Amino acid sequence: MTGSSHELSLKKKRELDRSIKSFKTWLCKIKKLPQGTSDSIVIFPRPTSADWIMKVDGSEVRFNSYITSRCSFDCFRLVVLHECFHLFVQHLPNKEDAKMFRDDFGPGFMQLFDVEADYYTAMFFKEVEHVSLVEMFDLYREVGKIFADPTIRQPKLARFIGSILSIANAYFKNPRAKQTTKENELYLPNVSNILTEETIHVFLLTKNHFAYGKIKIGIHDFVRIRECYTASDVIGRREYVEELLAFASKALQMEIPQLIHRGVYALPSVTPIRSRSVGQS
Ligand SMILES: [Zn+2]
Repeated sequence: MTGSSHELSLKKKRELDRSIKSFKTWLCKIKKLPQGTSDSIVIFPRPTSADWIMKVDGSEVRFNSYITSRCSFDCFRLVVLHECFHLFVQHLPNKEDAKMFRDDFGPGFMQLFDVEADYYTAMFFKEVEHVSLVEMFDLYREVGKIFADPTIRQPKLARFIGSILSIANAYFKNPRAKQTTKENELYLPNVSNILTEETIHVFLLTKNHFAYGKIKIGIHDFVRIRECYTASDVIGRREYVEELLAFASKALQMEIPQLIHRGVYALPSVTPIRSRSVGQS
């Protein structure tokens, strides 16, 4: 099934192309990519309801914009840049590559790759486009509505929690949107012990080392974050963001900075993140 109502306007296609290039430039700057990495040719074929966002063949990268009829442009951009991180940095361009990688090294590593892609996409939005944590979590609500998972597959829930903790940790330490984040601490949780221990076990990846940790979380906190994951469409925007902030604050044992908290109260009137051109502050 294809449809022109799912097609991006020419203006939006150009804007997305600029975002991808800007993302690549930023990745070179933070040394995730070698300088002078050549640009890919971005193609937008006729959108299809088939289950894919990005397909790569040599230097040609295709993006399926089908989901744009159900989400904002910025939400789609977030999803596309996540895919670009898989392509540019992790060398996992297509679904088949991800499957092979999962077979080779187990599902945990794939989850960690997803958390890493979520983290650096969020840091690009923060540092280059000056998006606040409240705006970022508001976008996560939209992403949740599209990729809703009512069956609650445990690895997907763990990846969601891991991304929330990794992103919140960076913002809590450097709350100003344009502040450069030097830390890169990635959290990969395992939630299977929550019922017996009221604890989430985590694999922590820092700049210098790996570590194993345990996060104390009550059953009620866990149930609430699980609701945010499964039913983001029925939770209000402010309520959703507040739940994510409260969960992260408790799990990381860090206060929510005033600067971030203030943004929550403005939420009902928050419009989607402005379409910002490359490098604009
Ligand atoms: Zn991914």
